[in-house]
Amino acid sequence: MDTIYLDNNATTRVAEEVFEEMKPYFTEYYGNPSSMHTFGGQVGGKLTEARERCASLIGCDPSEITFTSGGTESDNWAIRGILAATPNRRKLITSRVEHPAVLTMCRSMAPHGYNVVEIDVDEKGRLDLDQLEKEVDEDTALVTIMWANNETGTIFPVEKIAEIAHNSGAVFHTDAVQAVGKIPVNMAESNIDLLSVSGHKLHGPKGVGLLYVRKGVMLRPFIKGGHQESGRRAGTENTAGLIGLGKACQLAEENIDRENREVKRLRDKLESGLLEKCSDAFVNGDSSKRLPNTTSISFEYIEGEAILLMLDKYQICASSGSACTSGSLEPSHVLRAMGVPFTAAHGSIRFSLSIYNKEEEIDKVIEVMPPVIKRLRELSPFGRQQK
Ligand code: PLP
Repeated sequence: MDTIYLDNNATTRVAEEVFEEMKPYFTEYYGNPSSMHTFGGQVGGKLTEARERCASLIGCDPSEITFTSGGTESDNWAIRGILAATPNRRKLITSRVEHPAVLTMCRSMAPHGYNVVEIDVDEKGRLDLDQLEKEVDEDTALVTIMWANNETGTIFPVEKIAEIAHNSGAVFHTDAVQAVGKIPVNMAESNIDLLSVSGHKLHGPKGVGLLYVRKGVMLRPFIKGGHQESGRRAGTENTAGLIGLGKACQLAEENIDRENREVKRLRDKLESGLLEKCSDAFVNGDSSKRLPNTTSISFEYIEGEAILLMLDKYQICASSGSACTSGSLEPSHVLRAMGVPFTAAHGSIRFSLSIYNKEEEIDKVIEVMPPVIKRLRELSPFGRQQK
């Protein structure tokens, strides 16, 4: 039996075309793109092409793209780089449901004299825009709020958020790691100042990403050293990886319609199939404004980890909304911020699909999962009381 991989928000398979594009840049064209000789220069040319492909996907000028080591670096840099460039403003605004790449960095700025504000979400994971409007003021350096949530897929009104930030002269950064490649993103028609992208979430390799910085936005470098990336980000480029990122962006642009039709159809089929066959189950997040590939479903009165272990026997990969695997018994900070009851948050499972998923795989999950849920409820003392 083949693996049924439904954990694409964690990471994706590198597309065959991406791997093929990368291969020669390990052993054949291994020159340094900063070298004076033609051998290195040809790699530089290929990096230029990669940058153009990335720019095309997000609708910006190639000069507005700086390559990084991934989503985490891009997020960290956006936050540190803006605060360093705006020393007179001491307020930093984010949301309670950010990825740790943003949230941990923001929180780490509090001991350095920053007023760090985390905006609430409602029970569907929607941002409290009134609270945001009240909090953004003349002291605010940066508002950083994700485009789409990695756990629930909920999409935030980023253009509206940018407008609120700009009304007080603050800069707006969005972590678009889960959005780019899944929904249309066009910076030419946007007022977002900075945007983070990660390669391994869109069928590119791990350890590469980019930060989009709108022309004219002042950002201090984060990684210092040589003059690579026009002096914005030091360090010899991960050439093969970035060439792979460029190819992945080109493919993502071609596949965006498939993502929003076929992947969405399969996601909806999976979701409705499971809700129909499993009692005491509900979807977390805003179903009306959601990534096409993601569903987070809470199965009440049982543990997400137990569900995942049972699914693993069928080689079905998903992830849970509680963090027990990482050594904590707390449910995820995202579900807690949404006020999902403990009994449901503990039993939440995130399925995230990709263009590589097939109808038969979804049928298989709809077939095997309801008996798994039933069995676990029979075993659970809490479940026995309820059912
Ligand atoms: N931001 C979001 C929303 C993510 O989902 C992730 C990865 O899970 C990251 C940032 C971090 O990206 P990377 O793994 O490329 O560092």
